[in-house]
Amino acid sequence: MQFSPIQLIAPHYCSSCGRIGELLCEHCKYNIVSEPFEACILCHKLTLPMQNICTGCKPSFTKAWCVGSRSEGLKELLNRYKFERTRAAYKPLAELLHSTLPLLPTNVIIVPIPTIAPHIRQRGYDQTVLLARQFAKLRGLGYTPLLRRKTNSIQRGATRKQRVRQASQAFMAANCSGYYLVIDDITTTGSTLNAAAKALLDAGAKEVWVAVAAAQPLDD
Ligand SMILES: [Zn+2]
Ligand SMILES: [Zn+2]
Repeated sequence: MQFSPIQLIAPHYCSSCGRIGELLCEHCKYNIVSEPFEACILCHKLTLPMQNICTGCKPSFTKAWCVGSRSEGLKELLNRYKFERTRAAYKPLAELLHSTLPLLPTNVIIVPIPTIAPHIRQRGYDQTVLLARQFAKLRGLGYTPLLRRKTNSIQRGATRKQRVRQASQAFMAANCSGYYLVIDDITTTGSTLNAAAKALLDAGAKEVWVAVAAAQPLDD
């Protein structure tokens, strides 16, 4: 018996409601973006929506946006993307960022946080590169993978102090000038984003902003 290519592809189902069709259905996508994330991505204290840095934290980046906390549909979608090789999840995640972020100046360059090499090998793709590139495409903005990893330290499972130390040594950047938006999938303490922003500023960037799909407190 011959199988048509479509039968060989397992059907997608919505990560939030389970409906067959897409990795995240329009209804659940709308539900996620209609509840703006109202916390600092560094210390998780409450903030105003669309201002995800509190007045107490002073990171190297000057603006931050986050789609939501790593819970429910967003958590399932990210888990499938990161741990179950659901490569196509970069599309709904980029659409969530697209719906969450305000209009950006046309000279902003999109920069992904580079994924640790063993993780790329495990998955067969670099999830942050796919996400950042797709977001740049949706917005018609420039995309340049300017950051390089100096180490392969894994942040998951590390304490806040370890994360800050590991992250501070993690990145280097090629010559920069102008304005950058750094994109990552998940942030816990913001230390990776902070170190990435610092590396870009050290390399000549004028200003760095950050955007993430999800934030999760360290004790989760
Ligand atoms: Zn759904
Ligand atoms: Zn804070």
